[in-house]
Amino acid sequence: MERLHEIALKLIPEGFVQCSYISIHCRQHGSLRVRVDLEPSGEHPCPLCGVLCSAVLLGHGITKGLSPAFDVVCTPTQEAARIWASHNRNSKQ
Ligand SMILES: [Zn+2]
Repeated sequence: MERLHEIALKLIPEGFVQCSYISIHCRQHGSLRVRVDLEPSGEHPCPLCGVLCSAVLLGHGITKGLSPAFDVVCTPTQEAARIWASHNRNSKQ
């Protein structure tokens, strides 16, 4: 983390800033990976609907993009399919 901070300080003149990457789970939108400016306190609003969701810190980085940015990692339908497949796999053993 200290090394990352040193690199970030050198890149400030270039327009880069430090950021954190978190994972949140929204009941409506599924699992999302979100880039935020500050380290979350355990909860973070879903960028799509604004509902407060539990957040897990994935790591820190340096970005030139505007925060927050996000990726939908897994939709609720995909999660349901994964759980169903896992349940069927486990019940056959
Ligand atoms: Zn949402």
